[in-house]
Amino acid sequence: MKHSLVVATNNRGKLDELRHLLADMNVEVLSLADVSKKPIHVIEDGLTFEANAIKKAREVASATMMLTLADDSGLEVEALGGAPGVRSARFAGERATDAENNAALLAALDELTADAAGTRTSDFKARFRCVLALVDPFVRDGEPFVVEGTCSGKITRTPRGSGGFGYDPLFLVEGTDKTMAELTEDEKNRISHRGRATQQLRLALEKTLAARDELTRTVVG
Ligand code: IMP
Repeated sequence: MKHSLVVATNNRGKLDELRHLLADMNVEVLSLADVSKKPIHVIEDGLTFEANAIKKAREVASATMMLTLADDSGLEVEALGGAPGVRSARFAGERATDAENNAALLAALDELTADAAGTRTSDFKARFRCVLALVDPFVRDGEPFVVEGTCSGKITRTPRGSGGFGYDPLFLVEGTDKTMAELTEDEKNRISHRGRATQQLRLALEKTLAARDELTRTVVG
């Protein structure tokens, strides 16, 4: 029988990608809406992706008492000192849309080049980062297992592609001439920050599922 795994996010793009990335594992990936009628809202006030991922995983695991996976991720642009970073989802303000965040990013880069006379550039080094935290309230005393994946590239001022979500149309993937939004879902999952983090999670997830099976055998007798 499959184990249930709730993903502590309201972001449809993340949920869909994680569903595909974990499709071959013995888990049924559930959304917050699948497991709770009351909205579960976690305040993301951590200063790092890791702190926010752990906070989301812990709070949702204790609210649902279910095996929980949280994803905290975002875009870091070198010339902006790592911004938008942990504020990626709300770079243009609370509840900002992807389009508003993308416009705010381009405006911030325009401002930067306007200041530095003569050094107008279209090459802004950037990377996506994704931290995943897995918490099982019944295994390892609820201690989180944490992994990270990154994907390098640069920002283009001309958005391209319709796949993915978030900043994907503005992110040129290193070693290719395509934006993240021009890749197929399988191509993105193979090279993305989330795909790389998930690769590192697999063994810990398998061990957690085995520990759960063992626990069930012990309790049931
Ligand atoms: P979080 O929900 O606080 O982790 O913020 C995630 C935000 O980072 C998203 O709303 C996007 O703006 C951005 N982001 C994370 N992963 C991706 C991705 O795979 N593609 C594009 N943008 C992403």
